Amino acid sequence: MFKLIIMNCIKCDKTEYCSRFCKEHFLKYFYKKFKAHLARIKIIARSESVNLKGKNKELGKHLLLSIDNLDIKFSPQGKELPTYSMDYKAINELECMMTEMKHLLPSILECYREEEIEAFCNLKKMKFEQEQYSILGQKLLKEMDKLEKRKPNIYTSSYKILEKFYKKI
Ligand SMILES: [Zn+2]
Repeated sequence: MFKLIIMNCIKCDKTEYCSRFCKEHFLKYFYKKFKAHLARIKIIARSESVNLKGKNKELGKHLLLSIDNLDIKFSPQGKELPTYSMDYKAINELECMMTEMKHLLPSILECYREEEIEAFCNLKKMKFEQEQYSILGQKLLKEMDKLEKRKPNIYTSSYKILEKFYKKI
């Protein structure tokens, strides 16, 4: 028989909302993670004009505007900035290995799993848009989801491995 396990937040004793955090700590984690991710990928300069491309652009815009002193401008002529999730990146890189597909440009949202993006959008009453995959992508996604039942961090670890790998070559 299955036992329903209710997890608590790792920062306080409230019930878990997403990624082992309660609602309040999840929001803090989400903003903090974005700041760290931007600092790491270094693709946006202060006062730069950008053009968000992909799903969940509203979220991307909200996060960019949440950073003090960044003073970003949004324009269709601006620098192209993708907004895909970590799941999408992991699947896409697998596809690249199997085909002659081109690698993606870094995304401002690739530090998050898709379920985290959905959870955040729900909290902030923003529109959440699901990623779309190619036929091969859908097959890979199915396999990865199966694997995830045994290895819950499979997306995060494959993303990290690929990142290290590309830094080396
Ligand atoms: Zn908490």
